[in-house]
Amino acid sequence: MADLTSFQAFIQCKCPRCRKGDIFTGSAYSYKLQKTNINCPHCNLKFEREPGFFYVAMFVSYAMNVAEIITIGVASYVLGLPLIYENLWYYVSLILFGVLLCSPINYRYSRVILLHYLTPGLHYVPGSGDLIHKV
Ligand SMILES: [Zn+2]
Repeated sequence: MADLTSFQAFIQCKCPRCRKGDIFTGSAYSYKLQKTNINCPHCNLKFEREPGFFYVAMFVSYAMNVAEIITIGVASYVLGLPLIYENLWYYVSLILFGVLLCSPINYRYSRVILLHYLTPGLHYVPGSGDLIHKV
């Protein structure tokens, strides 16, 4: 099997070092509570690089939320009916609904962005973890 490209590994939430192991258990919109694996199931990379590492993902998630709020607000203004423009609760409820709908994606991709693009010294190593699985 050919290795994934950097973008494919990012989209599929794969480990940044081997691009084969899953970062999360389950899917984003399953009924089970989604969890981040402690180690990569393929190359055994520890995803939480240091204690409190994933707290930084909150800042990434915050930026993603602001972008979503602005997008939903502008889109609802452009696409909304003229009579609804004056109603503040129209925007508030629409934005809250949109942010709640996007929260599983924000949870996942804030951590994936942190691991793939914002962690110094964590790079793709072709073939990492393959020896573990050959035995
Ligand atoms: Zn890995």
